[in-house]
This record gives sequence, C-alpha cells and structure tokens, in this order.
Amino acid sequence: MKSFPTLILKPGKEHSLKRFHPWVFSGAVQKADTTISDGDIVEILSHNGEFLGLGHYHTGTIVTKVFSFVKTETGSDFWYGKIEKAYQLRQRLKLTDQPETNCYRLVHGEGDGLPGLIIDWYNGTAVIQSRSLGMSNIKEIIADALHEIYQDKLKSVYYKSSELIGRNSEEKTEDGYLSGSRTEGIVTENGHQLYVDWETGQKTGFYIDQRENRKALSFYAKDKSILNTFCYSGGFSVYALKAGASSVVSVDSSASAIALTEKNIVLNGLSEKNHNAVIADVKDFLNKTEEKFDIIVLDPPAYAKNISNRHHAVIGYKNLNLQAIRKIKKGGILFTFSCSQAIDRQLFESTVTAAAIETGRNITILQHLSQPADHPVSIYHPEGEYLKGMVLMID
Ligand code: SAH
Repeated sequence: MKSFPTLILKPGKEHSLKRFHPWVFSGAVQKADTTISDGDIVEILSHNGEFLGLGHYHTGTIVTKVFSFVKTETGSDFWYGKIEKAYQLRQRLKLTDQPETNCYRLVHGEGDGLPGLIIDWYNGTAVIQSRSLGMSNIKEIIADALHEIYQDKLKSVYYKSSELIGRNSEEKTEDGYLSGSRTEGIVTENGHQLYVDWETGQKTGFYIDQRENRKALSFYAKDKSILNTFCYSGGFSVYALKAGASSVVSVDSSASAIALTEKNIVLNGLSEKNHNAVIADVKDFLNKTEEKFDIIVLDPPAYAKNISNRHHAVIGYKNLNLQAIRKIKKGGILFTFSCSQAIDRQLFESTVTAAAIETGRNITILQHLSQPADHPVSIYHPEGEYLKGMVLMID
C-alpha cells in the first residue's frame, strides 16, 4: 500500500478522530513531515503511532479534513466508490429519475465522507465545487467517475472553485468545463421551472438546500401577501405565486439576482402584475416599508463565517428577525433561516426568541426546518447541519 507523509498528533488529541469527527485542527498537531504541502494526502497518527485516518492537508485552522478512517489505496477506484455510494443514496431518496425534480445535491462534503467536495446535479450538468486544494487536484478523476456513473445522462461537468480556493491559498484554479459545454440551465424542482446559472451565479448556481422549505411555503401561501427577502433567484417567490399568493415582493441587494428572479417568474407563466422585484438592502427595505405582510421569508447569507464572528452574527440575526416580525400582520407567518455553520440550532432559536420577546407579540412555533436528505449530516460531525429554520405564527 502506498505510504503518505504523516501528521503526528499531540497526546490526547486523537479522541475526536476516533469518534469519526473528520477535522484536524492546527493546534492538535505535534509534528508534521517537512515534505508536506497544501493539497497533499497525509496519514494522521496518534502520539503513539496509531493510525487514525487519511485526509487532505491544507495550511490553516483546520489543517486536514479526513476522508478515510481506515487505511486504503487512494487511486481512482477509491474516489469512484465514494461517489457511487453518494449516487446510490440519492437513488434511494428517489431523486435520480424523477421528472418533477431533476436537480439535487449529489455530494455533500463530510455528510458523504468527502470533506471539501460539493457536487450538484442540474438536469444533465454536474457542477463540482471543491473547497480544498486536495479535492481540486483530483477534479478530473471525479469528472471521470461522474461519466461512468451517469453515462449518457451526463452532458457536461462544470468545475467552479477558483473563488473558494483563492481565498485560502496562493494557488488559483480556473473555473471551466471539464467535459461538455454550456447548456441552457433550466431545472425542475417539485414541478417548478428555474434558471440556474452555474457560470456566473452564486455558489453552484442555485440553493438546492431550500427545496423542501419552498414546498412548505406553498402550503401557507394561498391568497396571502408575501415578502421574500434575500430572494436570490426567487425560488420561494415562484412557489408562492404558483400556490396562489395574492402578491409577492422579492428583495435582494444583487441586481443580477433580481434579474434572475424576474426571469423565473416569466418562465413559470406567472403574472408579473402580482410580483414586485426590488434591488435593496433588506434592512433598509424593512425600515422604509410602510406595508405589513401576511408572510415574510428571511433567508440571509451566512452571517457567521466562523466561530470568531459568531457574536456579531447573533446580533445581526436578532435585529433582522425583530425588524421582520414588526412587519407581519396579526396571525401572519415568518419563515426564518440561518445557514451559518458556526451557529447551531439551539443558538439560532434562542436568538429568534430574543427578537420575539422584544416585540412583545404572541408567537408560536409551527415547524422546525432543516436541509433536505440529499444534504446528509454525519452524526459525528454536527457542524454539517448548517441550515436551520423555523415557521412561526405571529399574533
Ligand atoms: N433564498 C434564496 C437564497 C438566499 S442566498 C433561495 O432560495 O435561492 C442570500 C442572498 O442574499 C443572496 O442572493 C445575496 O445577494 C443576498 N444578500 C446578501 N446581503 C444582502 C442584504 N444586506 N440585503 C439584501 N440582499 C442581500
């Protein structure tokens, strides 16, 4: 079996790895082979020389993310096996051959045993996003595995990572097609049509993670006035209008997001008369608007990028929820979310509670929301549950 450079941990630092938590923090490392460079596969050993795992090395707070807790070869068969397993799960979830929904997350990082790798499937196009140089280095192997699995269903593979890698590393990688070429990105989600722009849009082009929550909004939307804040491509707005909302206002600070939202309204044959798209900062909008709504959707970007700015993020979420609750009619509903990995469900819900208390209104939790099953979470890595939400009734 091939040998890899080693990282030896300090005494006592092996416990979390033994419990299958896949991150090695820089403070846990006693000795690293001098030959190691960013993106390399390393073997992690306890202080006593016990094998703990294999992972991709990267200079930073988290120096290694482990992709195997057993000794293994790491050739193309290994990566193929991992991606095939992820595909089988999506098959089991009935996502792979379903005309009503032809976009889903195929690989969700740690939840699929592939830390640093995201693959989203958009009706024949796979978009790979690597968050580590190690995953970026094997992107061709990953693309080949995808072709093997999907055969002629796979038309193109787009690699989109330069932005993320560039953030932490000297090395830049180029975005582009690893196979195939540009196709018009239109997907179907629960029967709704949506444009996905993986080349210039945010993340991999679309927020697949809100699929079930958009459906939840449909349930409440009929004849209601709805404010969809941080709307991006307007997924929530399309669902609400299709479900018979009387009016929808979509707000985002990005002009291209608003343009995409407007395109999506037209794509679904929905009347533009009931839709108002506004380019604005959500806080300014909420401050200025005199209108009150039956339902507000609050889906801000991750306020806490890491633990160190969690405190500021909590204040941000509290103020935002406070402003929104004040703009909801009696008996109305708030869909509120946080996608910050560094803020767990308990903290998020306490923060919203603090906002609720300040409004003095009677507020009831109707539902707790999360990410769908194609965004699985390793039970040993609770940080993987990044999307938390609640449906609240505001009296
Ligand atoms: N709800 C969306 C995803 C939201 S992503 C969906 O279902 O697809 C967060 C969005 O917030 C992005 O589109 C970003 O452009 C927007 N945004 C970030 N900061 C903002 C602000 N201060 N005011 C308004 N929009 C903002």
